[in-house]
Amino acid sequence: MTMTLPKSIFFCEVGPRDGLQNEPATLSVERKVRLIEGVVDAGVRIVEIGSYVNPKAVPQMADTDEVARAIRRMEGVEYRALVANLKGVERALASGVNKVKLTVSASESHAKANLNKTPSELIDGFKSCTEFARSNGAEVSGAISTAFGCPFEGKVPPEKVAEIAERLHDLGITELSLSDTTGMANPRQVYDLATSMQEMLPDVRWFLHFHNTRGMALANTLAGLQAGIVRYDASLAGLGGCPFAPGASGNVASEDMIHMLHEMGVDTGIDLDKLLDLARELRGWVGHDTDSALLKAGQCCRPIPRDGAAKQ
Ligand code: ZN
Repeated sequence: MTMTLPKSIFFCEVGPRDGLQNEPATLSVERKVRLIEGVVDAGVRIVEIGSYVNPKAVPQMADTDEVARAIRRMEGVEYRALVANLKGVERALASGVNKVKLTVSASESHAKANLNKTPSELIDGFKSCTEFARSNGAEVSGAISTAFGCPFEGKVPPEKVAEIAERLHDLGITELSLSDTTGMANPRQVYDLATSMQEMLPDVRWFLHFHNTRGMALANTLAGLQAGIVRYDASLAGLGGCPFAPGASGNVASEDMIHMLHEMGVDTGIDLDKLLDLARELRGWVGHDTDSALLKAGQCCRPIPRDGAAKQ
């Protein structure tokens, strides 16, 4: 018997949004642009460039309009942004973003704590967003956050996720992300949910989005691959862990995920050397250590890191 793995996957770099939104320091527009153009240069074909949300709530993302206008667009690359409401969609489209991602939490408490609305109320508000986006030629994607667990409610029942996925699908959204926002998913749970969601909505392009809070993100990625999921998010250098909030952790590091995939013979189209150089540069910009195994240990095929950080 051999292990069943897809031949290739689609990778989305979410560092410019999910990574940077949790950093205490805000990167300049120039550095954000350099980060986005750098990952594209390394072969990444989907980039989440930022979010259009209340700048008071997330000041790190207040300049997404400017970033979107400044990036040099490459043919065949998808530049998407996170939005929370119609105002966000309008801002995104006005600055040239052609794909918006609407997020809703599967957990009532999490949704209330974040946006003071129930998941159902949030989805009610999405109708105007999808209509506006489509009538202006933009695509819409959806994300279900806390799809595996919620810091307030614990395990989230799959029935809740299914209900939300169906409602988003009813709005004509056929690309959905299952997001493990606070790193509570385990591989068996990922396999089960990914399998049942694909059976329930076979026309949906499913993304998986893992945070590495409890060190399970790469194991969860493997479980997703085994369940046949071929779309993954990750964040360069494992950014997103806030140094002032112990326990808060970023997405799994892009370079760690890409490295694991390449080692297993799964194609990503990404130049890992280029990606690692950029991850190292990014770590320098944020000025603190990040949750990246590869930045510490180097690649299996070249185990001695250039900065000599790991010694035996
Ligand atoms: Zn996230």
